[in-house]
Amino acid sequence: MTAPDATHRPSRVLVALGGNAMSAPDGSATEQDQTEALGQAAEHISDLVAEGVEVVITHGNGPQVGNLLAKNEYSVAIASPVSLAWCGAQTQATIGLTLMNALDGALQARRVARPVTALVTRTLVDADDPAFGEPVKPIGKYRPGDEAQQFIDLGQHWKDFGEKGWRRVVASPQPLEVLEAQTARFLVDSGSIVVCSGGGGIPVVRQDGRLRGVEAVIDKDLAAAVLGPALGADTLIIATDVEAAIIRYGQPDAEPVGHVSLRRIRELESEGHFAAGSMGPKVSAARTFVENGGAAAIITKLELLAEAARRPVGAVGTVITADGPQE
Ligand code: ADP
Ligand code: MG
Repeated sequence: MTAPDATHRPSRVLVALGGNAMSAPDGSATEQDQTEALGQAAEHISDLVAEGVEVVITHGNGPQVGNLLAKNEYSVAIASPVSLAWCGAQTQATIGLTLMNALDGALQARRVARPVTALVTRTLVDADDPAFGEPVKPIGKYRPGDEAQQFIDLGQHWKDFGEKGWRRVVASPQPLEVLEAQTARFLVDSGSIVVCSGGGGIPVVRQDGRLRGVEAVIDKDLAAAVLGPALGADTLIIATDVEAAIIRYGQPDAEPVGHVSLRRIRELESEGHFAAGSMGPKVSAARTFVENGGAAAIITKLELLAEAARRPVGAVGTVITADGPQE
């Protein structure tokens, strides 16, 4: 792929929707909250589609899986709890359905005819990934220690977060491959908007010639970094709630990062500007997408999606390209 210059226009974009696109501003995630938030996201995505861009959507699922885990935990005596793989599949389906409905309406209002398809997809991880030896990713809701104990007795890992209570922790292994990427690619090639790899995909490992689900979660931005190139996407847009990644974040001399090269973003990462668990994985995923052959990766606000495609490279958000801005 050629490096984009100021006239580069994205043609196939993978959009990664963050948590704020799937819950109310206060983080609550009732069915209505999710439907409203995804309805807003669908408006911005439709603006992007109306720009003539082919779009694939991936999304997080933290609060949704949290809701399912709480149901699991409170109803142990009535209905047997289900695995994280099933929770992941259920959230891919419900978020997929909600996006399909919302996009249908938003596209129709723009007089754009385009089918929308949501897929249940798996992400391959390495059974020997060191992350399995050290579960650190908190999932679900905080519970008092005595309640956590019954789940620890069932073999789960829970961690004491002090005043807030205890929370379940699971492994977060590196994504290697989205197994349904080629199927998604056929669908985009034939004109569909595709929703896939939600929640980073359902993690599976290959063992004795078979695929097996594992109790883990995959960072959705890191999964997007391997999915994007497999789809033939030239651009990854990580849509979040800030306009750009910021250096010296929270300090008086904080500054947004504009258009940068791989070399420069690696430097900024090594200086520790991007917090683990929030902006850190986004920057790392954006960089990985470009390292994997993507032309440009953009981190910006959901509301600026279409703007990012319309304006010259670097005018909107943090943009990473292999060689950076051309002077
Ligand atoms: P999402 O829910 O969209 O996946 P996150 O909430 O995980 O996104 O990450 C976005 C948040 O990261 C921002 O709202 C901001 O509070 C935080 N953040 C941490 N470090 C930085 C940074 N260096 N630049 C910008 N935002 C940062
Ligand atoms: Mg967030």
